[in-house]
Amino acid sequence: MKIIWEHSIYAGNAPVFCSLCDRRSYPVRDRHNQLLLAVIYDGRGVAWGEACQDCVAAGAEGIRLRLQERIKTLQAKVEDLQKLTAEGIETPSLEQEFQIHRQGTP
Ligand SMILES: [Zn+2]
Repeated sequence: MKIIWEHSIYAGNAPVFCSLCDRRSYPVRDRHNQLLLAVIYDGRGVAWGEACQDCVAAGAEGIRLRLQERIKTLQAKVEDLQKLTAEGIETPSLEQEFQIHRQGTP
C-alpha cells in the first residue's frame, strides 16, 4: 500500500470517508491554497480511496493496527448480520402500512 498526497478531485471542502478507519475526513490546504487528499494505492496501482490525516500520521505500523481493529469490528458485524438473516423476517402488517399512509395525507 502506498499513500500519496494529491490535489482533491472533488468540488469544495466536502468531507470524504477514510478507507482505512471509516472516519470522516476533510481535505487539507497546501501552501498554494490547493486542497489535498491522501490517496491510497495498492501494490498494483489501483486507488482505494482516501486516508484521513490521523491515519497518515499513524505511520505504517499504526495503519496496520488500525486496519486490524477495523477488520475485527467488521467481522463481528458480519457475524451479527448472519445471525439476523438466519431468523424469520416479518415486515409490518398491511393494516400498519395502511395507517402510516393515511396519517401521511392531510
Ligand atoms: Zn483514517
